[in-house]
Amino acid sequence: MVLDETIIKTIVPYYKQTGKELEIFDKVWVNRLPLLLKGPTGSGKSRFVEYIAHQYQIPLITVSCHEETSATDLIGRFIIKGAETIWIDGPLTKAVKAGAIMYLDEIAEARPDVIVAIHSLTDHRRQLYIDKLGETFEAHENFLLIASFNPGYQRGFKELKPSTRQRFVSISFNYPENKLEAEILSNETGIDADTSNKLVNIGTKIRNLKELGLTETASTRLLVDAAKLIVSGFPKRLSVRLAIIEPLTDDLEISQALADVCDLLI
Ligand code: ADP
Repeated sequence: MVLDETIIKTIVPYYKQTGKELEIFDKVWVNRLPLLLKGPTGSGKSRFVEYIAHQYQIPLITVSCHEETSATDLIGRFIIKGAETIWIDGPLTKAVKAGAIMYLDEIAEARPDVIVAIHSLTDHRRQLYIDKLGETFEAHENFLLIASFNPGYQRGFKELKPSTRQRFVSISFNYPENKLEAEILSNETGIDADTSNKLVNIGTKIRNLKELGLTETASTRLLVDAAKLIVSGFPKRLSVRLAIIEPLTDDLEISQALADVCDLLI
């Protein structure tokens, strides 16, 4: 079977290991265990998945889950074509049949029936039951389910039920330590080491400003974006404001307070 969404990138995605995740993945893959990547937004989860898909040469199908994502969206549906009703496989069914990594990004956002749909794929059965077809499919030996989840219970983010979490081996992601993060910024954007270090200091500072009550904090992604603006010729402080501060808050006072802090650091 040929996958239209198949992505085996020809260029190696850049990924800097920040813990033991690559060694862990090796064992996860050997055992074909479902994997949950926990961590804040912009901490490298998706990049990690792209990287391992490339390293292991497994096709990758990604679904970014949102509150309307249903089991039907993943499994497939009947559509009417002329006088005929035909079945169209959804991304999960394609991955199960062809042997791909199914990456469900932000799985907690999806509707509860998605969790029910993946149930028999996350235990020893490795099967997908499609009730609309009345058929059960055994997963291809290269099929692997990976999901991501942003634990932010205190900030009102959606939770994953403990019974669901128990179905996955879990790896925690967080923002990399300063030296690694600066290296990532330089690699991703070509920014000079001095400015890269300054951006990382800004990231660390904002992450420690808990009293501002920001829902999200300065992620590696935001630092990369600021670095990109700077590299393309924008003034540093303006780049920080546009790429780091503005995405984090709409509150004028908080935004000004953050700008004051950041201006001192760059
Ligand atoms: P998440 O999926 O956790 O929201 P991403 O994987 O999309 O985050 O990471 C956001 C960006 O941050 C990436 O596009 C990349 O530029 C950078 N990044 C974060 N962590 C790493 C890492 N360990 N190695 C390389 N790039 C990283």
